[in-house]
Amino acid sequence: MRVRFEVSKVLDAIEKRLSTDPALARGVVDLAEVVRYADLDGGRPATLLRLGLVVDALSRRLAEENVVVYVVVDRALLSDADLTSNERMVIRRWADDGLVEVLPGAGDRTLEVADLTGLPVISRRPYDDQRERRPWLGEPGRLLCPGYGPGNATIEPAVPGGPQPPSRATVRGQEVLARLWRCPEPGCAAFGPSRAGRPGGQPPPRLRDGVPVCPRHDEKLLAAGPRPAAEVLVARVDGTVRQRFVVSSDQPVVVGRAPDGLDQGPGVLMLGPWLAEEARRWISRSHVVLEILGDDLVARDVSTNGTVVRVGGSRAESDRLMLTRDQVRLLGDDDVIELYPGVQVARAGQWSSGGVANPSSVMADAPTMMIQLPASD
Ligand SMILES: [Zn+2]
Repeated sequence: MRVRFEVSKVLDAIEKRLSTDPALARGVVDLAEVVRYADLDGGRPATLLRLGLVVDALSRRLAEENVVVYVVVDRALLSDADLTSNERMVIRRWADDGLVEVLPGAGDRTLEVADLTGLPVISRRPYDDQRERRPWLGEPGRLLCPGYGPGNATIEPAVPGGPQPPSRATVRGQEVLARLWRCPEPGCAAFGPSRAGRPGGQPPPRLRDGVPVCPRHDEKLLAAGPRPAAEVLVARVDGTVRQRFVVSSDQPVVVGRAPDGLDQGPGVLMLGPWLAEEARRWISRSHVVLEILGDDLVARDVSTNGTVVRVGGSRAESDRLMLTRDQVRLLGDDDVIELYPGVQVARAGQWSSGGVANPSSVMADAPTMMIQLPASD
């Protein structure tokens, strides 16, 4: 029973790293492929825990905490007897909650998502037959190969080329992602009115002969207005990117030690767990509100001690602005918000590295028998 309990804790940890929001995900994976990377642990033919090993490897590559992946699941995996019944049930729950995308005949959906969003594909397939149609596969950082060793899962780009380049959607991708879409199927987790997570964080539609359809229900999607304007930001504490988050015109975000609201999900970024004692004392429960007004990203101080803006990311005293309670500042592209020295928020492109050599693992609670690595002889 102890092993079972620990497995479910690992699956809970993995669950927090799943999203089909193109603004948050850092790579696209085909789950049916990943669960069969038996060389990563030398264990059963298929196990869901390998998704955790791949998420960890991606976190290490990006040197960031809390890295999120976009998981595509072929529906056949839900009845794959190589997985445990508990694993199949967990995948079904993730699908119902809109955390992963389940579809009949996943085919090249992984490539389509990568194509439309600009995210890298995490796969061992060489995709030689796709190179002509999708030339970006040959660009540095667009195809990432999970491997093994020394002593751990790794992810290396198929085409070497320095740090991970930012995601760039294709023109067609920008077009479909500029709109919201509605699936006629009631209760659709991806394109329904009760979408989990940020309402504007819909996945890209599937394109069938150029027509947007729901990947899961294969129904033609209805246009539902423009997608709310959004900015991807990062919170960095003591030199480490701890969390990416999205501020959108339909959803401001309150950043602080422990912002109000029981729900610690969208709309709230809680820094508390990452703060040392001095910073905890200085930073207010709700410290600064970030919102999009028109086309602008705006910061509003709501704290006791004030919020510093480092204009253009500069460390010079002369570029340091102090916002006091209810003061507002329109943020320039490179401006950095500082809630306390070393506790910063900025646009995602501000820092070239996530800063941490060993991000925390989703596998921390995995029973050792599940991560028995092959002998490295
Ligand atoms: Zn649907």
